[in-house]
Amino acid sequence: MISDNVPLFLFPIDMTALPPSSIEDRIEVLKTRWELYVAEGLFEQFIEFAVAVNSLAEHFNRMRLPGLMRICEGLENAVLAHLGKQSSHPIGDRDVLALQRQMDTLFGAVASAKPHVPDPERRAEDQASAQHDIDWIKPRSVWLVSAPERREMVDALCGQLRFFGFQVAEMTWGGAQPAGDMPLAVLFIPAHGSTSPQDFDCIASVRSTCPASQLFYLGVQSAIDPIVALMRAGIDVAIPSEEQPAMVLDRILDLVQNFEQEKHRVLVVEDSRVAVALIQRTLAQHGIDSHAIRDPGTLFDVLESYRPDLVLMDMFMPRFNGVEATRVLRQMSAYSTMPIVYLSGASDVGMQVEALRLGGDQFLTKPFNPVLLAAVVKTKIERFRETQRSTRLDGLTGLFNHTAAKSRLSAIVSQMPEHGALTVAMIDIDHFKSINDTYGHPVGDQVIRALAWLLKGRLRSSDLIGRYGGEEFLVALPGVSPEQARSVIDRIRGDFSTLPHAHPGGALHATFSAGIASYPMLDTAAGLTEAADAALLQAKRLGRNRVEKAVLQ
Ligand code: GH3
Ligand code: MG
Ligand code: MG
Ligand code: MG
Repeated sequence: MISDNVPLFLFPIDMTALPPSSIEDRIEVLKTRWELYVAEGLFEQFIEFAVAVNSLAEHFNRMRLPGLMRICEGLENAVLAHLGKQSSHPIGDRDVLALQRQMDTLFGAVASAKPHVPDPERRAEDQASAQHDIDWIKPRSVWLVSAPERREMVDALCGQLRFFGFQVAEMTWGGAQPAGDMPLAVLFIPAHGSTSPQDFDCIASVRSTCPASQLFYLGVQSAIDPIVALMRAGIDVAIPSEEQPAMVLDRILDLVQNFEQEKHRVLVVEDSRVAVALIQRTLAQHGIDSHAIRDPGTLFDVLESYRPDLVLMDMFMPRFNGVEATRVLRQMSAYSTMPIVYLSGASDVGMQVEALRLGGDQFLTKPFNPVLLAAVVKTKIERFRETQRSTRLDGLTGLFNHTAAKSRLSAIVSQMPEHGALTVAMIDIDHFKSINDTYGHPVGDQVIRALAWLLKGRLRSSDLIGRYGGEEFLVALPGVSPEQARSVIDRIRGDFSTLPHAHPGGALHATFSAGIASYPMLDTAAGLTEAADAALLQAKRLGRNRVEKAVLQ
């Protein structure tokens, strides 16, 4: 019988290190580890450094900073090349210099990507929230690079973007770039026809000066060659000519919208105490939450209570082996698609194939490479979540649906810090039935979508926004007092009432009413939503197009 009693990790490690949290923290960790390696030259120090580079690249990815991620990936590739079997440590002086140069480029790009003047309106709100890093580098400006013959479309887009709170700066193809902070997004709007070599130069030059921005190209032919060419030049999103320009706004608003911040959760099923410690430490360094069990007999109870996104399964354990445990899980509908990754010392390929055939998703061998382990775990979880996302998001608006919004709110309330603030608002469009009756359902849909956009564009990425019902929205603002919330919602109310909604015969205007309720006056999700609902009813009674606060009876 093959035993998995082989070395588990490539090196001895410091068990006390904590996962860094912000970009700055991560860069500090990376620099410290690099300096240590340069001074002492140990292989294990180099791996620690590689993990820090990987963790920074992941962080840029999560924060949707594609340019910085690319630069960091270039560094990561160069670093990983020194982890191969042929490499010897310490690496030579030339390699040290080359890596140092790549790091300097990266740090330079990070420094230039950081906004210099924070938006004063958002600053107070950001200080109220603990999530500084989430909003770091999220300026609300957009550059438009357009050809003169697209004037009409550019004007329409500018109008929409400005309405939704973005500052718009324009430049011509090949013209000077606007001054000031780096934009959130750059939209390239070419003349009709194919992209010229000068156009590619212009894209590449914007890419290099704006490493943190998302670059959109509007109006590409739906064919693989031109899209690949644009992506090589630095475009992140190529939008085909057939697609509605309104889609662009949707995507830009998505950039500032809350997106999966829920931690990745991994259940480690492993009988060796040492292996558990090493695996959990690697996962923690990558910001992945984990829970370990040493006896697969307790698997069901823990799945139920911990609700992991992925199981990391050892092969050889007392009582049952990993393949047997996996086969049982696969027979239960709740766990039939959850990713299961084996981590075992068994190097017999026939056995690995069989383990995969019997329900595993991937086979990793010990000793494991920490960067690879984290990458496998994260990508498997992302794919899995992607397939599940459609069950939680509303198709019309892309916001959380009723069920998801409710469960998110419960999660937020259950994690409220002592003396924390939280305000919940219920928003309902006024006389919506008559909009439908007068202008038709598609126009009604457009009004719902516009309100969703407005909320996405105006609220912070840490706020919860859900479509609670047909024309009803649930909003939760953590760290915000009822007074602050009232003024924020009221400003959105005022703006919404001035927003024109196009219909075939012209434009219509709509209004909404809102009710707000706050923690800790109410300390359950249900209590908060009921009280906000009651306040909403009061706002309707008092004439609509207004915001009312809940009062305790
Ligand atoms: P009030 O000011 O009191 O809120 O009046 P109201 O007309 O907005 O309220 P009511 O609840 O009577 O009407 C809501 C309407 O919303 C009824 C329903 O047909 C419509 N509706 C629900 N979901 C959708 C949707 O997805 N699209 C469209 N176009 N209409 C919807
Ligand atoms: Mg074992
Ligand atoms: Mg209504
Ligand atoms: Mg309603």
